[in-house]
Amino acid sequence: MKTYRAKHTGFCFGVKRAIQMAKETAASYKNVYIKGDLVHNEKVCRQIEKTGIKRVNSLKSIPKHATIIIKAHGEPYKTYQEAKLRNLKIVDATCSMVLDIHKKVRQLQDEGYQIIVVGDRNHQETKGIIGNTKGGLIVENNLDVDKLKGKIGKKVGVVCQSTQDIDKISQIISQLVRHTEKLLFINTICLPTRLRQEEIKKLASVCEAVLVIGSRKSANTKRLYRLGKKINKNIFWIDNPQKINKDKFDKFQSIGIIGGASTPGEILEKVYKELNDL
Ligand code: SF4
Repeated sequence: MKTYRAKHTGFCFGVKRAIQMAKETAASYKNVYIKGDLVHNEKVCRQIEKTGIKRVNSLKSIPKHATIIIKAHGEPYKTYQEAKLRNLKIVDATCSMVLDIHKKVRQLQDEGYQIIVVGDRNHQETKGIIGNTKGGLIVENNLDVDKLKGKIGKKVGVVCQSTQDIDKISQIISQLVRHTEKLLFINTICLPTRLRQEEIKKLASVCEAVLVIGSRKSANTKRLYRLGKKINKNIFWIDNPQKINKDKFDKFQSIGIIGGASTPGEILEKVYKELNDL
């Protein structure tokens, strides 16, 4: 059996920076809180909690004058306002690519565009982007476009969640243009996502099977899995090396390995080792 590791593995720069900021904050301040998950990987979140950072679901659970870390996926504008009202010290670990999307939607809005965000409705990043617009709309798929028919204005600015897939977005845009006079699309898929999406397509084409490694919560890992599945039916998604079913992989001559942007590099190494031991 031959194993092929993707070139772009381990944390993307946004995840790396968020983890670094969280650790430094925990070392410098006493009462440190985070609303939700810093990044979408359970192992990383457990490590962060071990530094003493407390995870909460609402700012109301954070005592006044404490420190709040804003997660890598970002937050709606109202979270920052609420944090200020509660006199919290804000440490903003939002990825620069996500902050850039927030900036773009605000600019488009100032220029009179109605904002449409192509993204997973329940994902934190999409909620954060929408929460930085005044009444922006979320489109997850073509069915949503049909549902929004009467609500789409004459001048529309479209951005996307940073981990979307450009083929899916193109289909949605071709539907959206039918309902408006002017549409401006800004491709806000981040570079680490694009590179990994290119790699999964290659691996799925040249290998008999591909292992996609990452949390079930991770949107970019889910996208890698789906893209691979379109090309090769032997795509397997696991979140840790213990889940490798040796009998299943024994029969393949070549296996590709790729991880999501929040999957620790050491997990990929373990998987690589496990497979080579087979
Ligand atoms: S996947 Fe992209 S947007 Fe998300 S943290 Fe990484 S670099 Fe930033």
